[in-house]
Amino acid sequence: MPPEIQRRRTFAIISHPDAGKTTLTEKFLLFGGAIQMAGQVRAKGEARRTRSDFMQMEKERGISVSASAMSFDYKRYRFNLVDTPGHSDFSEDTYRTLTAVDAAVMVIDGAKGVESQTRKLFEVCRLRDLPILTFCNKMDRESRDTFEIVSEIQENLAIDVTPASWPIGTGRDFLGAYDLLHDRIELMDRADRNRVAESIQIDGLDDPRIEQYVPADLLARLREEVEMARGLLPAFDRQSILEGHMTPIWFGSAINSFGVKELMDGIGEYGPEPQPQRAEPREVSPEEPSVAGFVFKVQANMDPKHRDRVAFVRLASGHFERGMKLHHVRAGKPMSITNPVLFLAADRELAEEAWAGDIIGIPNHGQLRIGDTLTEGEPLRVTGIPSFAPELLQTVRAGDPLKAKHLEKALMQFAEEGAAKVFKPMIGSGFIVGVVGQLQFEVLASRIELEYGLPVRFESTQFNSARWVSGPKDAVEDLVSKNKQHIAHDNDGDVVFLTRLQWDIDRVVRDHPQVRLTATKEMM
Ligand code: GDP
Repeated sequence: MPPEIQRRRTFAIISHPDAGKTTLTEKFLLFGGAIQMAGQVRAKGEARRTRSDFMQMEKERGISVSASAMSFDYKRYRFNLVDTPGHSDFSEDTYRTLTAVDAAVMVIDGAKGVESQTRKLFEVCRLRDLPILTFCNKMDRESRDTFEIVSEIQENLAIDVTPASWPIGTGRDFLGAYDLLHDRIELMDRADRNRVAESIQIDGLDDPRIEQYVPADLLARLREEVEMARGLLPAFDRQSILEGHMTPIWFGSAINSFGVKELMDGIGEYGPEPQPQRAEPREVSPEEPSVAGFVFKVQANMDPKHRDRVAFVRLASGHFERGMKLHHVRAGKPMSITNPVLFLAADRELAEEAWAGDIIGIPNHGQLRIGDTLTEGEPLRVTGIPSFAPELLQTVRAGDPLKAKHLEKALMQFAEEGAAKVFKPMIGSGFIVGVVGQLQFEVLASRIELEYGLPVRFESTQFNSARWVSGPKDAVEDLVSKNKQHIAHDNDGDVVFLTRLQWDIDRVVRDHPQVRLTATKEMM
C-alpha cells in the first residue's frame, strides 16, 4: 500500500449528547495543529463559513443537523474525522456517514456510562464490524468505579474491553492515568487546560520513581486495580480490535486535554488504515492505482450566497488529482472535477490531491446523489448505502399557495441531501414528506424558511408507512393501476406504496406475488 494511503485514519466519533464529543473534536484539532487555541472552533466569524462554523451553527440550533469532514495531520498520520449528527432523529444520516469511515471513537461520560444514544450508534457500527476505540471522558469529576464502567460496556454492548490506560484517583483526587501500553504515568495539569500532561516513563508499577508523583494511598490502589485488571480483563490484541471484537479504553478529560494525545496515538498506531470497499461487481481495494469513490452525503446551501451543493465523496482507491476527469457511473457520463474541496479543518481549501481514505467535497448542481460511484471508467457500483423507509409521514404546504413551485424545488433539494423522503402522490396535489424522527419536520420547516424564505406548514396524512415497490414491470403496473390511491413516486421516480395499515401491505403481497415491497432501498 502506498505510504500516503497507509498513514490515513478515517473515523467518526459516536457518543450520547453532552458526553464531550465537541470538546474532544476541538482538542483533536488543537493537537492536529488545525487551530491555535481551544475555543476557536466556536469563536470564528460568520463570514468564513468553514466546517467549524457549521459546528457553531449547529451549537446555536442546539442540534447537529449535518455531517461533514475535517482533515488534519497528527504525527505521521493524516486524520480524516467525519462528523456524525448527534440526535437520534438523524439515524439514517448517521448510518450513511458510518459507511464512509474505517473506525469509530466512542466517547462515554465517566459518571453516566453507556447511554441510549451511544448504544444505538454502537449497534450501527457493529453492523459493519467497525473497530471501536473508547474514550471515557470527564474523569476530572466524580465518576463511576473503573471496573463498573468496563463491565457495563462489556455486558451492555457485548464487546471485550481492554484497558489502554487506568485512572489514578477519582473526582477531585484524579491525578492522571497509568498508560498500560507504554508503561508510563501521565499526570493531568489542572492549571492549564490546553497543556499536554506530563509523562513519566517508568519500569513497571513497582518502580520507586512513581512515589515522587503519586501519594501512597492512591499508588497502593492503582497497583492493586491494575493487577486485578490484568488478571480479569482480556489483554490488548490489535487483531481483535480491528475485527471489532475488542475495544481498548482510555480514561481522560477532554476539557483538560488529558488522555487526548494518548487516544490520538492509539488511533494512529492501532486504528485501521483505509479498508476495502464493497462494490458490484467486485470489491475495491484502497491500494488500486485507479481512483474510485462514492457519495455518502450531499449537503445543500453550505454557503447561502451560492446555491451550491457539495457531494461528500469518500475515496475508496487510488490517488486523486485536481482536474481529473472521472466517470459518473449512474449517469454514464464523464465529469471533470475541477474544484474539489478538501476539508482541512482550518479552512475549506481546494484539494490539489487526495488519496484513498480521504473525503473530498465536490460542488455540483445536483448531478451527484447519495450512493453515486465515481471511477476512472470501470462501471463499479458501491453497495451497502441504504435508504430507510420513513416512519413518519406528513403533507407539506407553502403558507403562500402561489409558491408551490418554490416549495417543490426546496423539497427536491432536501430529498437529494437525504434529509427527508419526498413522495408525489398519484392522486391529488401536493407532496408527502417522510422522515425517521419527528424533529426532522421542525428542522425542515426552519431550513425551508431560512434557506428559501418560504414559510411552510406540515399536516398529518392518512398514511403512516411507505414501501418501495419492485418486480417485473407489468406486475408493478398492475399493482399501481389497482391501488392508485396508495401510490406515489419518490424523488428518484421510483414507485412507493403508502398505507396506514399493515393489513394493506399483507393484502398487496398476497394479491401480487411477483412484486416485492421493501422498507429499504439501496441508493444508486
Ligand atoms: P457533546 O454534546 O458531546 O458535543 O458535548 P460537549 O463537548 O459540548 O460537552 C458537554 C459539556 O461537558 C460541556 O459543558 C463541556 O464543557 C463539558 N465537558 C467536556 N469534557 C469535559 C471534561 O473532561 N470534564 C468536565 N468536567 N466537563 C467536560
